[in-house]
Amino acid sequence: MPIDATRPYDDQNIFAKILRGEIPSEQVYTDEWAYAFRDIAPQAALHILIIPRGEYVSWDDFSARASDEEIAGFIRAVGKVARDHDLVEPGYRLLANVGAHGGQEVPHLHVHLCGGEPLGPMIARRSQG
Ligand code: AMP
Repeated sequence: MPIDATRPYDDQNIFAKILRGEIPSEQVYTDEWAYAFRDIAPQAALHILIIPRGEYVSWDDFSARASDEEIAGFIRAVGKVARDHDLVEPGYRLLANVGAHGGQEVPHLHVHLCGGEPLGPMIARRSQG
């Protein structure tokens, strides 16, 4: 069920629980600013979620409230995860869903990193007619 991205941060969301180690995740990267783990229902050969450690509902919330240090740390972590997986030369895709129209389901900012195979069109084409 897509979320309302304007609502306050809910510290009981599933990614908050993953950050606190209350539920398991398959870690691929961690640092002061970010945590990355494998998506439980991969949509590509490689599908990693990268989340900031701070409490931000969405990309909108993060870009409005996070400090420059948090933003720099998070963005650098996303790039590092891609490089660590040798994705730069073949290429990869980053995606952040925001709110209802974006189809965001978990109310803690996450960037999807997909790769490991050609990914096709960015968005499913609308049917004609
Ligand atoms: P979004 O629709 O952008 O909010 O994406 C949420 C993503 O979180 C989906 O791709 C889910 O498969 C993934 N997901 C949900 N629960 C877990 C979990 N416990 N561990 C890893 N990925 C999860």
